[in-house]
Amino acid sequence: MLARIIIAAVLLVALGFIPIAGWLRFGLYMAAYFIIGYDILIKAGKGIKNRQVFDESFLMAIATIGAIGLAIYEKSGDYTEAIAVMLFYQVGEWFQSYAVGKSRRNISELMDIRPDYANLYKDGVIERVDPDEVEIGSTIVVNPGEKVPIDGVIIEGNSSLNTSALTGESLPRDAKSGDEIISGCINMSGVLKIETTREFGESTVSKILDLVENASSRKSKSENFISKFARIYTPAVCTGAVLLAVAPPLVRLFAMDLPASWETWVYRALTFLVASCPCALVISIPLSFFAGIGGASKEGVLVKGSNYLETLSKTKIVVFDKTGTLTQGVFEVSGIHHSKMENEKLLEYAALAESASSHPISRSLQRAYGKELDQSRAENIQEISGNGVMATVDGLRIAVGNDKLMEHLGIEYIPCRSVGTIIHIAIDGKYAGHIVISDVVKPQSKGAIESLKSAGIQKTVMLTGDTASVAERVAGELGIDQVYSQLLPGDKVEKVEELIKSKPEKSKLAFVGDGINDAPVLSRADIGIAMGAMGSDAAIEAADVVLMDDNPMKISKAIKISKKCLGIVYQNIVFAIGIKLLCLLLVAMGLAGMWLAIFADVGVMIIAVLNAIRALFVRKI
Ligand code: ADP
Ligand code: MG
Repeated sequence: MLARIIIAAVLLVALGFIPIAGWLRFGLYMAAYFIIGYDILIKAGKGIKNRQVFDESFLMAIATIGAIGLAIYEKSGDYTEAIAVMLFYQVGEWFQSYAVGKSRRNISELMDIRPDYANLYKDGVIERVDPDEVEIGSTIVVNPGEKVPIDGVIIEGNSSLNTSALTGESLPRDAKSGDEIISGCINMSGVLKIETTREFGESTVSKILDLVENASSRKSKSENFISKFARIYTPAVCTGAVLLAVAPPLVRLFAMDLPASWETWVYRALTFLVASCPCALVISIPLSFFAGIGGASKEGVLVKGSNYLETLSKTKIVVFDKTGTLTQGVFEVSGIHHSKMENEKLLEYAALAESASSHPISRSLQRAYGKELDQSRAENIQEISGNGVMATVDGLRIAVGNDKLMEHLGIEYIPCRSVGTIIHIAIDGKYAGHIVISDVVKPQSKGAIESLKSAGIQKTVMLTGDTASVAERVAGELGIDQVYSQLLPGDKVEKVEELIKSKPEKSKLAFVGDGINDAPVLSRADIGIAMGAMGSDAAIEAADVVLMDDNPMKISKAIKISKKCLGIVYQNIVFAIGIKLLCLLLVAMGLAGMWLAIFADVGVMIIAVLNAIRALFVRKI
């Protein structure tokens, strides 16, 4: 392409200095014209054949052929204009494909987390294989400098991990034997032996890549607006051009008794067509969204589509789940009261009954118990969302949960005055005591709420299944505007629906959760934001936006990124349409020629594309 542009440009300049006339002159100019424009002419021809007439190639072809025809008719021999127009148009196209290609490459480089191989360790031998071929439970070795290809658990070795491609966090994270490890991090220092817990296709890396690759297929309203706009716009300008060519001469001829001057008006109509090319809009809007999504993912915020970026920018209310979202979800046991047996025995029963649950409470109880659990002792496990669990352990019916669970089972319980989450335990229908556990607020939560206010959020709300006393304390500490406590997962959906109904029409509501028993709320909210919990499937699936490092600070960051991106989109729309209308007006009045029209078109396109690329740079926000 670049070669064609240069040859045509040189030929054009040279012809300007060579005084030849007649057929030779025409032939040489035509040679330059075809060198630079043959593909456009072919495209235009194909468009006509497929009855999709009104596209850019068609506009350019008609305008330039028209200009050449006019030059022949006027015997002026001035073909320069037609060729120059084609030349500039091609320069614009070339720049556009260069810039778009470059920014796409940039983004995929940023997302350069796809591992090429895995070192499979088997019977003392290491073999380099395709990550796809590694089965769950295999052992893989990751050397320093390599990407972790598959999710798993470290069974040998210590190292620090660079997770910046996943979370945007630049500080390395320490990893030791026994830790879970997710794919996509880079191993920095030590050799790690990992037992895989997922297949490659189910691993974090694959999921993220899927998300990012499919993000651009979900179109935003602004993008849909552009395609609708193009459908009306092109036929409209074509009609306009025909009118411009025909109406004024006829009026002059019949109403004003003047010479028709067909050439002038046909020329203006052709120029009008050149000026009308909508390429700046068509290219820059999707590019802006693409760049915005890319920039966000660089910061550890995965946005699943342009439409979500748009919704995010209009968000005025943010609703939070408590456990695992604002708090760490890592409970410490702070007391065991009224136990009818050894404290440790009570804890053991509770931990066994909880052994199948993935709720943060369950994990904390298991950790507090500290010893190996024989899962086979627990049978008939039944988890009641937002209440607790019931199970048969060593033949005894164990119920572990909150006040509501006890009331539901008709068991009299002893209320607790300590502040914390109270876990009652009943054995064979009789009360056996309670465990008080308390959760720690994430260190970034307070700052996160403050920065949401500065990002223009009008109201923050916290929903929780926990008791009022814990809820009030956390909300007070963080400065949250409204709290609703003791909600079952279903109640949370209802509350969110109420909040959606009572808010102004245009503003949007975001729900932020950890994906554990709040997936329905995540999908009900205008926009669902999930803590990626470093690979929690439920969250990644149900949410529209995923925060890779569970840091609530990233919520306001995501909102600011979306606002910047949408700002750029609107700037481009207004700028491109504004200049376009101005040009069309100037052309119709005969104040601007074809040169100026194409200059304006290519110029607007370049500025719009450069502006779009700005959406990629979000680090400082
Ligand atoms: P949150 O809304 O804060 O995320 P959940 O809806 O997950 O809380 O749980 C609400 C309450 O239900 C908890 O505070 C706890 O009392 C009880 N609960 C839920 N799951 C369990 C469980 N696995 N074991 C014991 N109690 C549970
Ligand atoms: Mg929760």
